[in-house]
Amino acid sequence: MNSGLKLIGAIMLLLISTSYSTNYSAAEEPQDSLFQTAILQSLVEGVYDGDLTVGELKEHGDFGVGTYNRLNGEMVVLDGVFYQVKSDGKIEIPDDSTKTPFAIVTFFDTNKTLKPRSKLSCEELKSFIENALPAENIFYAIKVSGSFEYMKTRSVPEQSAPYPPLSEAIKNESKFEFKDITGTIVGLWLPEYMGKINQPGFHFHFISDDKKSGGHVLDCKTDKVVIEIDYMRELDLDLPDTQGFNNAELTEPKKEN
Ligand SMILES: [Zn+2]
Repeated sequence: MNSGLKLIGAIMLLLISTSYSTNYSAAEEPQDSLFQTAILQSLVEGVYDGDLTVGELKEHGDFGVGTYNRLNGEMVVLDGVFYQVKSDGKIEIPDDSTKTPFAIVTFFDTNKTLKPRSKLSCEELKSFIENALPAENIFYAIKVSGSFEYMKTRSVPEQSAPYPPLSEAIKNESKFEFKDITGTIVGLWLPEYMGKINQPGFHFHFISDDKKSGGHVLDCKTDKVVIEIDYMRELDLDLPDTQGFNNAELTEPKKEN
């Protein structure tokens, strides 16, 4: 299983280092690397304990999404600060020893800025961004900041072992709705071929400007926002050395929703 995943990692690196006839590298920064611990499929299968700490993650990025051990809330990383959106809606700052079973971070730098002229639903926002992406085969970090007419998020409750699969754990998720709120969507867009490792397409988390509201975005409507996009061509995949991860059955790809 381990060697299989290493092979996938090697294939990813080959894919990523392939040069294209259309070249965007002039706009990219040397730190344009996406760091991921574990894979989405291990989370889907109920591997909720990882061995990587928040302190270690900070060395790999200042922007990203994920969750914490025991599936204890949604991780939102913005401007180098890690936020933990608990299932009661409260937001805490985890200390550096807190561990994660799944997270994706990068050092955010802006390659492209967009300012939509009209208010957009979440689906319209996604189409708007997708239309502006220069290539379908690389990775993007996406920051949408400003005011939102509507924001609907969720968080998941802390689990206890033996862990249920994610589809079961999510049944007890808490949902939160906000109107006329300012804040930032911390997002990623990943290519379809990443489907066995992460969620293809968009993955949005949210944190309000007052840092009192947030979570995994289920729906939204923008008011006045600025969209910043960071292009990335490197993937650093860190696989946890835990019994749970080493022994997980990771054959069937599913999607987190
Ligand atoms: Zn999420």
